[in-house]
Amino acid sequence: MAPDRKAQLSKVRRVVVKAGSSLLTDPKRRRIHTRFLRNLAQQVQALQKRGIQCVIVTSGAIAAGLFELRFRQRPKEMAQLQALAAVGQSSLMHAYETAFRRFGLRVAQILLTREDLSDRGRYSNAHNTFMELFRHDIVPVVNENDTVAVEEIRFGNNDTLGTLVCHLCEADLLVLLTDQDGFFTENPVLSTRARLISDVYQWEDWLEKGAGRSSTSVGTGGMLSKIKAAKTMMRSGIPMVIANGGIRLVLTRILDAERLGTFFHPSPAKMASRKRWLAWGGKPKGDIRVDEGAAKALTDHHKSLLPTGVRTVNGTWAKGDIVRITTLDGREIAKGISNYSSHDLDQIKGLKTSEVSQRLGPGLALEVVHQDNMVRIDPLF
Ligand code: GLU
Repeated sequence: MAPDRKAQLSKVRRVVVKAGSSLLTDPKRRRIHTRFLRNLAQQVQALQKRGIQCVIVTSGAIAAGLFELRFRQRPKEMAQLQALAAVGQSSLMHAYETAFRRFGLRVAQILLTREDLSDRGRYSNAHNTFMELFRHDIVPVVNENDTVAVEEIRFGNNDTLGTLVCHLCEADLLVLLTDQDGFFTENPVLSTRARLISDVYQWEDWLEKGAGRSSTSVGTGGMLSKIKAAKTMMRSGIPMVIANGGIRLVLTRILDAERLGTFFHPSPAKMASRKRWLAWGGKPKGDIRVDEGAAKALTDHHKSLLPTGVRTVNGTWAKGDIVRITTLDGREIAKGISNYSSHDLDQIKGLKTSEVSQRLGPGLALEVVHQDNMVRIDPLF
């Protein structure tokens, strides 16, 4: 039986709170919602007093830019969106600073792109920055670096960014604050039969189908990206809550284990932080296709990948890079760190272990990808 909410929440020492654009902006008055920010600051202060560190993942830069530059509608063109984000991000941070200062809190802006997390060196630099900020009781306020992020290097939405920030700073809870009361059986905007689900104990595929599209006109996420975030968090072993940010003291009440919103219970096996990075942070440089025997050894028996099971090498990478391991028909079964460059692997694919040193010389790793440096792609996830 999975531990209940209370047991899980009592262990939380660091929480990532994602606030959506619909909460941060007041569309009628066309400005940043300062009351929401003040309430947020008050709750962060209360949590800090209990010894719980908070990280905010904020949306709203583009929305704030729309107001500043008096745009009536969100443009589609990338350069325009980037300019709006540049304008909006600075007024957004100004609003955070003002609201948090009232409660004696200091904030720091962190803008990330996908690239910052896909390289292990840059990932650990970013990790160290967070740790240093925590040491000084500073509240990191994170957003995607929208002004430079082009399509290929985007997180795309801040729900995804929230999951990665959770991994990056080793938080024990992710809270997605939105304008909905949580996750419903159907879209509550469209159906009166929709019921709020208060606990999700296990991932089931219908959750993703039930999520529907975005319900706000200013944000980019919507329920689909939230449920995808839940899938990631459950798999990585970290609890997640979707709740209505408009509810009074919602954060502190969630941490007091009040039944608010939807609580996603994590799978009991907590993934090591390095494996989390491999699974969701690191970007593969190529594919290794393996035969049926190797695929079975990897998935069913959690074995390492040996040269003998490798059939084809697709892409160019260096020793130490991340690769995707797939079946012969291209289905991804694992990701891992390769002990061989693509060039060397091409020379030894299909060889028995004893033949490898004859081909490439002595002193090489026995495994192409060691099981400790590998995450399996669970078909359920
Ligand atoms: N990074 C975007 C912004 O600040 C928001 C993305 C999202 O809402 O998911 O406007």
